[in-house]
Amino acid sequence: MVRKVKCKYCEREITNDKAFRFINNKEKPIYYCNEAEFIESLKQKSNREEIYKLMSDLLRYEFLTPIWKKCMNEFIEKYNSEIVRETILKFKNNIVYGLNKNFENEFIKMRYIKAIIENNIEPIKKSIEILKTRDEKIKNETLTTNELYDTGAICDLSKIKSNILEFLKDSDVN
Ligand SMILES: [Zn+2]
Repeated sequence: MVRKVKCKYCEREITNDKAFRFINNKEKPIYYCNEAEFIESLKQKSNREEIYKLMSDLLRYEFLTPIWKKCMNEFIEKYNSEIVRETILKFKNNIVYGLNKNFENEFIKMRYIKAIIENNIEPIKKSIEILKTRDEKIKNETLTTNELYDTGAICDLSKIKSNILEFLKDSDVN
């Protein structure tokens, strides 16, 4: 029987006959618009787990507490899990250094770490977006030689480095 279901990934209403169905042993099937959205949702889930693990390691907590998870999820909602993960990885040293301070409470500590991520996330977002567009063009064979050269120069993620000296200078002002 054809009925309406909701895509777990984008929440669009679809019909169960056309949807991609994922069957988990005991549970009811989960529906997605297509296989690509299913794969994307798996990728994001694993990115999210990785972000939780990274942050709990940096904070030296055994598990990431719910308020920290909420904080990370806000970033993930606003950007996406890939951009957030890359930013934390790139600016790990700044976060570790920042955490050496004595914070009056968890809220202030979180506000401080949030600011580090916020101040550095935009260039990472831009690079990831340019890389995605480039990959798409390579796939469709519409990338020009000039574009290949330009994007290579702009979006080399390895060139975005956390400038710890600049960071130390800024944080001393506080
Ligand atoms: Zn969908």
